[in-house]
Formats: sequence, structure tokens, C-alpha cells
Amino acid sequence: VGAPAAGPFAGGAHGGPPVEGQPVGGGPVGTDRAPAIVLFLSALVVAAVVGGGIYLVTQGGAQYPSKWDDRVAPIAAWVAAERGLDFEHPVEVNFLTDEEYAAETRVSEDLVEEDAEEIADAAAEFRALGLLSGEFDVVESVNTLSDSGTLAFYSPSTQQVYVRGQTLTPALRVTLAHELVHVLQDQHFDLDRMAELSSTRAGVLRAVAEGDAGRVEERYVEEVLTDAEREEYEAESVDDGQDAVDEIREEVPDALTALFAAPYVFGEPLVTYLYETDGQSGIDAALQDPPSEQVLFNPFLWKQAEADDVEVDVVMPPGATEITRDDFGPIAWYLVLSSRLDPKEALAVVDGLGGDAYVTFRDGDRVCVRATVVGDDDAATARFESALTAWVQAGPEGAGSVSRDDDDHVRFQGCDPGEGAEQPVELTLEVLALPATRTQLYLETRSAGASRSQAWCVATGVLDLFSFTDLIDPTLPERQDVTGSMMGVMEGCVAAG
Ligand SMILES: [Zn+2]
Repeated sequence: VGAPAAGPFAGGAHGGPPVEGQPVGGGPVGTDRAPAIVLFLSALVVAAVVGGGIYLVTQGGAQYPSKWDDRVAPIAAWVAAERGLDFEHPVEVNFLTDEEYAAETRVSEDLVEEDAEEIADAAAEFRALGLLSGEFDVVESVNTLSDSGTLAFYSPSTQQVYVRGQTLTPALRVTLAHELVHVLQDQHFDLDRMAELSSTRAGVLRAVAEGDAGRVEERYVEEVLTDAEREEYEAESVDDGQDAVDEIREEVPDALTALFAAPYVFGEPLVTYLYETDGQSGIDAALQDPPSEQVLFNPFLWKQAEADDVEVDVVMPPGATEITRDDFGPIAWYLVLSSRLDPKEALAVVDGLGGDAYVTFRDGDRVCVRATVVGDDDAATARFESALTAWVQAGPEGAGSVSRDDDDHVRFQGCDPGEGAEQPVELTLEVLALPATRTQLYLETRSAGASRSQAWCVATGVLDLFSFTDLIDPTLPERQDVTGSMMGVMEGCVAAG
């Protein structure tokens, strides 16, 4: 199992090896006033920048202990009761030193050598999609995200939990509660099958698993920790989280961090949406049969026909050698478009996604990505075409093209401009806040008693009101004009019914 070998999108939000970790740092803290939601979401994104895929080579069958470790037993009992599922059997929990944890999470030198070509291809694919410019060490970025970016992980292949730390602090207990939810999920819903799903479905399964674990983790903090322990937990999370965030922001390109963070950023609002719509059985249904990634990107589409993926074909040029073939999904499109266009424009385009397919291939010396994409209707397809055309024009000369195929689908191609070429990459991690803020606004408005259509009206209305720069500005909620204009949107939506 080579981490970067599977291509950029297999490494982060989109499936990847069936192992995952918990983000460093505490979850977002609550908010009370509507305008503060924007701030809340910026905080959410920062808290969630870490966490994600961990790559681990494992051999042999899983072996289970006959009973839980004494330190884990009380937490396991609480988690099982809270989640409403029984453990089929206890699992091994490994309490590791920093060095041992690093050894488990980092890609081994041998593997790097073995997969050198795939690693180079992955970097080329990122450049072809305009997500990175110049030279880029995929392995080091993945290592930083996996090691510094996580506190613990559960491996469905070894069926063991690995945690960093040997002293049972409140923060470590909270981490264990999170990982034990993954154990339950795996025993009841088989997380190992992520490896067999399309990259977008695997990404959705992973996001639902993270959102579910995050929910139980938060309940543990609220219900089990004493006030003093909660304070200790929060202080520890902030310290550890900030260090990890600083290291990651410095060393890892935002595009890669965004792909890693996506399951956490999108998973939590989706799980809240599912829970509020259908209770625990809504979450279970999504673990059993993950919805399309369009639902993860915008939970409002849950059970709507618009969320169904339209099947399309993509063909390579004759004589080319295939590297990867999969689907892109809205999150990848959104990041690609946001690297050169205004994120709000990218969001509007991606909202109209009907379906897509892509293939990465080598043509002579060059690595290229070719994708076919179709919108929910003709207008949405046309929006994709013009956005991709603008994207190509903003990139290096001769590196991309957009056309229509015989079925009137949009055909896109982007090629690696090479390590030596400069290309504009304006993608920042904060772009993830835009769709997540929309969902959060929707949920908050719903819980204040608004109807579905009123809540959607408020969520989209507030987004329309501000520029992207304003929306990610932490001081926005304090600005004089903000409360008044948000009230105006809400009144308009209530009047519209
Ligand atoms: Zn997790």
C-alpha cells in the first residue's frame, strides 16, 4: 500500500488506504448568535486542517485480546452505550511514544524507493490540475499530515487502535472515545470496504465515520469529563493543535491539506444534518450505503434526485498509458476551480455538477489529466464549460484545453507544465469554509424553527451578501453593518415562506 502511489485524490478526502486518524486539536466550540457562525466556521476549518490519511503496511490476520486494556474498558463501555451498538470483541490499543507513533504513521524509506515513479506521477497530477506549482515532495507532505496531523488512528486492516501518548490524560481519554467509535463502525459497517469503493464514495464513508466519531467524542467531553478535566482537555488540545497547525501550514501545500481536512470539515455538518433529519438511523444508513459526494458537499441534497451521479465516459488519446481512472466529485472540482477562480464562483459552478469521470495518463513524457463532466442541466453544463475555459486561460500557455464531446458533455484536459514552470495557485485552505458555512447556516436556521426552504434561503442569502474575503474574516461578526444585513436576509426569507 503506497500512500502517494494511488494519486492525489486517493490520498486525502477521497478514500485512500482504509485507515484514518483523528485531527489534532479540540473540536469547534459552540456559538450563540447567528453572525458568529461565520467565525465558528473559520475556527472549524482551522481545527480540522489536520487529520486524515495514514498509510500503514500491515501483514497477517487480525488478533484480538480476550478483554479490554484496563485503561480503555470504562471508555469502551460508555462509547457502546452512547452509540447504541455492542462491540463484537475487544481490540488491541497501542499506547505509543512519539517515536513509535511516527514509525507507524510515516511512509517507510523502502516504500518510497519502490514507489518512486508513482510518487512523481502524483506530483505531476497535482500540477496538471493547477493545485501546485514547481517542485513538491509528496511523501514529506503526507508524512507531516499523518504524523503531526493526527493523535491516534484505528486501522481496519490490523483492527487495532494506535494512540500517541502513554499517560491517560483527559485529552487521551477523549481521543480513545473517538477511536472506539471507529472500532464499532468497523465491526458493524465494515470500514475496510473503503478500499473497494470509488474514491468519492470512499471519501463520503470516511467523512460520515469521522462526523459520527466526532459527535460521540463531543458528548464524551460534555458528559463524562468533570469541569476541571474539561479545562485541562481544552488547554491541552489548543496547545497541541496550534503546534500541529503551524507545522502543517508551513510545510504542506494548502491543496493537499484541504484534501486531508475535507472529511472532517464536511463530515460533521453532514452527520448533524442526517441526525436531525432521521436520527441515529440516518447516520447508520449513510455508513451502510454512503450517498454521493454531492450530498457530502451539500447535505441539503440528501435523498434528492439532483444528488444522483450521472454516468459519463472519458477516453485517453491513442497510444497513451493509463495511470489512474476514477471520478472527481464536487470537492476536487471545487478545489481545482478555486485555485484560479473566485471560490464563490467555483461554488456556484460545482453546485450544478451532474457527474464526471477522469483519467490520468502518460502521453510521451508528459502526465495529463482528462475529465468528462456534465451538469444537472444544459445551463449547468455551460457554466462548467465557461469556468473551465477561464481556468485554462489563467494557467500556463498550452497546458490545458476545454471542448464539447459528441454527447455535448464538457471535455477538459490539463497537462503537467513541469517542475520548472510557474503557475498561479491561489487556493487557500479557507475555501473549504464556504460550503461548510452554508450548511452550518442552514442547520442553525432550521434549529431556530425555520422550514427547509426558509433555512436554505437564509443560508444562500447570507453567502450572497458577502465576498469570500469577508466570509473568512474572523472579525466579520463584530462589524457594525453585518447584523443588520443578516437580519434583512432572514426577514426576507421568512416573508417568502
Ligand atoms: Zn476519526
